[in-house]
Amino acid sequence: MSKPAFWNNQKRYYDLKSYWRNRFGCNVYKVPIDAGFTCPNRDGNLGVGGCIYCDGRGSLLRREGPLPSVTEQIRRGMDYYRKHRQAGRFIAYFQTFTNTYAPLERLKSLYDEAMGQEGVIGLAVGTRPDCLPDPVIDLLETYAQTHDVWLELGLQSIHDRTLSRLNRKHDARAFVDAVGRLSGGKIQICTHIIVGLPGESREDMIETARALSRLPIDAVKIHALLYLKGTALGELFEKGGIHPMTMEIYVQTVCDILEILPPDRVIQRLTADGYRDIFLAPSWAANKMAVLNAIDAELVRRDSHQGMRFVGRDKGMDPFEA
Ligand code: SF4
Repeated sequence: MSKPAFWNNQKRYYDLKSYWRNRFGCNVYKVPIDAGFTCPNRDGNLGVGGCIYCDGRGSLLRREGPLPSVTEQIRRGMDYYRKHRQAGRFIAYFQTFTNTYAPLERLKSLYDEAMGQEGVIGLAVGTRPDCLPDPVIDLLETYAQTHDVWLELGLQSIHDRTLSRLNRKHDARAFVDAVGRLSGGKIQICTHIIVGLPGESREDMIETARALSRLPIDAVKIHALLYLKGTALGELFEKGGIHPMTMEIYVQTVCDILEILPPDRVIQRLTADGYRDIFLAPSWAANKMAVLNAIDAELVRRDSHQGMRFVGRDKGMDPFEA
């Protein structure tokens, strides 16, 4: 197989470490921040129950008591990475809930505080595609002129019937619209998708990858669907009404998706882990390294790599076009 020289790694896909090395010449670490946001799908604006897989607890910090300031959270995160990874450069990652869901002045104050920390070279902001008004994009563009700025957009699936089943309270058009309004700027887009969603066939998941391959996005995070206690999905699982995907099918599907995505798309994540205290299933997802190794092995077995079946962007950026 041939792979692009810029991958600069031993993988058969363009991983995040390679991107950081290409961009900055060193490893970069994301420091997670819980800035106290909520979500319109939880506070009653769009709904109160949230997505069926979302535990709704927020970060561990939030559960421990009053949230430390953004400055304090970044300082603690940096201390950890400096001690354990000899890290020197950091992205401030506004991770918990919907991190663009507040008045513009509050957003600016929080982002400014993060960007003002020594060692912070950029921002990552996790949000919903329907929670991205133009003034917020304009604000993020101001940072993106001089720093790495990532918007982490939750899509999960390109199929509206799935989004409805998940109780996402937005459709795929909202995502395509957000991407359209971001395109041409310097903000980079990382899209989150989930493999193993209820009611979706392998072909449905591949269609999501095909749609993403035609959109001007920069990175993808692929998550395994986790069944967690206290969620609607977890409840369904405990009642025996739903069966998680097997690891074998997960690995096969992730490799199919990688083959369809363009070779220059940064792969920021290939599975999901964590939530040990409320984790129900699938049991294989608790062993992240085993999943990653199985994906590597499957790509070798296929003699394949990311982009192997990428067909180009010639149909424009609308994935709904025929
Ligand atoms: S949009 Fe995100 S934070 Fe809001 S309910 Fe869904 S998963 Fe939870």
